[in-house]
Amino acid sequence: MDFHAPPKIPMSAPDLGPEEQAAVLSVLQTNYLSMGPFIQQFEDSFRAFTGAKHAIAVNSGTAGLHCCVRAAGIGVGDLVLTTPFSFVASTNVILFEHAIPVFVDVESSSGNIDVAQLGMAADDLMAGGERAKKWLPRGIEPGGKLKAILPVDVFGQPADYDAIQSVADRYQLTVIEDSCEALGGAYKGRKAGTLGDYGVFAFYPNKQITVGEGGMIVTNDDRAAALMRSLRNQGRSDGDTWLEHTWLGYNYRLDEMSAALGFTQMERLSELLAARARVAASYQEKLQDLKAIHLPQVGADCTDVSWFVYVVRLADGLDRNQVADALQAKGVPIRAYFSPIHLQPYMLKAFGYQRGDYPVTEWLGDQNMAIPFSGRMSEEQIDQVCQALWDVLG
Ligand SMILES: *Cc1c(COP(=O)(O)O)cnc(C)c1O
Repeated sequence: MDFHAPPKIPMSAPDLGPEEQAAVLSVLQTNYLSMGPFIQQFEDSFRAFTGAKHAIAVNSGTAGLHCCVRAAGIGVGDLVLTTPFSFVASTNVILFEHAIPVFVDVESSSGNIDVAQLGMAADDLMAGGERAKKWLPRGIEPGGKLKAILPVDVFGQPADYDAIQSVADRYQLTVIEDSCEALGGAYKGRKAGTLGDYGVFAFYPNKQITVGEGGMIVTNDDRAAALMRSLRNQGRSDGDTWLEHTWLGYNYRLDEMSAALGFTQMERLSELLAARARVAASYQEKLQDLKAIHLPQVGADCTDVSWFVYVVRLADGLDRNQVADALQAKGVPIRAYFSPIHLQPYMLKAFGYQRGDYPVTEWLGDQNMAIPFSGRMSEEQIDQVCQALWDVLG
């Protein structure tokens, strides 16, 4: 055994306490393991928190985004504007319906969709012909109908929704907000998740709240909400019996244990967000003079950041793999975040993307590194991470 090896810091950790344990146990003492009272309570907590008229619990963020794509009427050959700097789910849900993701690059400080390019892309796609072609993936002919914009609130900061909405209004596009990383974030005082037509949150264990696996859709649209409730539940609509199915649906239901856990986490939300903000502030203070990295920047319109991950950008010329190895030896893991979607093997195969197609996304993909982050980190752990970064890069 190596007594000198530094303790290993986890990349992330959920914050669960006795309240969560009691809530999950209470479900196990009933007969209602699915479609019981906690789903309603968990959904109510989201309606109360976001102010949205409807909240629909589902069993993953991906499932929630997929329901939104269906509710927007996106189908075979339709076009959806989105970004390649995201977790793959935001693009995959478009592909599930055989629609075509049309990528727009991001702006470098936030990693959110570049709204100037978004406007140009929408204008060119609507114009069709050669103008449309330069935005479409190789081999895709112009002619698909532009239906929606799917922006991602990257790392907890909402995108620029005033600009996005003006593009959407110009061409009657639906806006699907991927707010899976932004629970508690706000844009010009408006809550993440409520900034488009539909918003989606996710509850994997590294998110601001967790239920293990789960997600939540929020919307003010009555028609879409009814459809999404039905899609979640095997396509059964109001009035359908267990074996009647109005729509082609899915089993995207969240179980009661998860809903009980989620409801309890929502009761603690402000405490959980404050703990994450404390860790982010401590990193900011201890790393701000380290010249080899750029710290996360909070945009002026982001009136509340919800810290999801802490991603720093290595200065150009520094090799992330070498840095990662040196940090690993000091017990500090890092992750590339994000790894560009257009360069994933299945995307290269389907659409023939090449390196250079989305330069800002690729640059962030090369130079970004997420460092260990959770609301549970102690000051000693934060110090260990910062000391390792100073030792390797100072
Ligand atoms: C977490 C996340 C999702 C959804 O993930 P699930 O694992 O399906 O819950 C979607 N988009 C982004 C950007 C995410 O970070």
